[in-house]
Amino acid sequence: MATDNHENSELNPFLQMTKRLEKASSLISVDAGVYKILAEPFQELAVSIPVRMDDGSLRVFTGYRVQHSVARGPAKGGIRYSPEVNLDEVRALSAWMTWKCAVVNVPFGGGKGGIICDPRRMSQGELERLTRRYTSSLLDIIGPERDVPAPDMNTNSQTMAWFMDTYSIYTRATCTAAVTGKPIGLGGSLGRNEATGLGVAIIARESLKYKSLPSEGCTVVVQGSGNVGGLAAKFMHDMKHKVIAISDMYGGIHNPDGLDMPKVIDWLQENGKLQGFPGTTDIDNNQLLALECDVLIPAATENQITSVNAADIKAKIIVEGANGPTSDEADMILEANGVFVAPDILANAGGVTVSYFEWVQNRMGYFWEEKDVLDRMERILVDSFKDVMASSERHETSARIGAYCLAVERVAYSHEMRGMYA
Ligand code: GLU
Repeated sequence: MATDNHENSELNPFLQMTKRLEKASSLISVDAGVYKILAEPFQELAVSIPVRMDDGSLRVFTGYRVQHSVARGPAKGGIRYSPEVNLDEVRALSAWMTWKCAVVNVPFGGGKGGIICDPRRMSQGELERLTRRYTSSLLDIIGPERDVPAPDMNTNSQTMAWFMDTYSIYTRATCTAAVTGKPIGLGGSLGRNEATGLGVAIIARESLKYKSLPSEGCTVVVQGSGNVGGLAAKFMHDMKHKVIAISDMYGGIHNPDGLDMPKVIDWLQENGKLQGFPGTTDIDNNQLLALECDVLIPAATENQITSVNAADIKAKIIVEGANGPTSDEADMILEANGVFVAPDILANAGGVTVSYFEWVQNRMGYFWEEKDVLDRMERILVDSFKDVMASSERHETSARIGAYCLAVERVAYSHEMRGMYA
């Protein structure tokens, strides 16, 4: 399949995903034919989305939905709205969902969607019309048994409510299981909102334990302060670690004595940006990533740790809240420097795990208590961490490639057992 843009393969997320798939497949000797299936998306759709803007003009946006795999169950994965969305990014993100769902062993394949747009420059009405028209364009390939979207960058429970409503209007029946990450009270699950950030903190805790580092009082640096980074920082603070720096899209704040995270989150909500928070020094993204710390949590976007800056990283442990923040080239440098990386397909899997619970609850028509949801998620993540480390030890490889080995084995097994219809 032709890959688009990004001359530099280190910055092309799909090529990066392929490199890891190749490495894992060589360790577990995947059948050559099955490898070819896994290396390409199962199905992808690009759509033009005409939207009437508030000023009366008509704009046409481009949207994608890629289903990398439906071997283990319906495709599953978020939808992101961003000016940077491109097809290779969505392909990579959809494949990462396949591996992520397989690592935590939930019965889903992988998918991802994206619309090239700048949601900060659009009104709620424009976003609603964009979402509804996009949903209607995907009708042939989505549904609770086919492909179940969720929130991702710049989309939220409101976006999912519009998506669910539009789908339900077309199918003539309210279908809450068509999408996850919905508002509580409209079929959403308790715990879904905090699941990804909490999951990142749980994997950080397990990683610290694995590396025999203290369970309290470690220094933590977080890149990103959205639903993943902001909440991961808060949960690390709750676990009595010291969050010394955090950033948003405008820059970062640093205090070596530790930040009062609940106050930082309130400040961010009131001011719309972190910088200016009393008692902190402003820092930029490069300074933040290079800070001396025990745990670094990249929770912003792809391609943050590359061959250009990997050698500057002083963290002992990296826990990937974002999808694809570290390149394969950077992995080699980090490994040589003894930095332990808890990979994205494990570290941020708490979100999709609770999405799975939301889908189950919607199909049962019976809702669980928050404690049930979060306890079950924690158990799955702790077991998955053990499975990943066992796989990495068995194959004498990094945690990342160990996680890929585990995931690829599970997806390849489904293909082999299902057989080929031809
Ligand atoms: N967008 C999230 C992710 O990258 C959640 C996906 C989902 O819940 O389906 O894992």
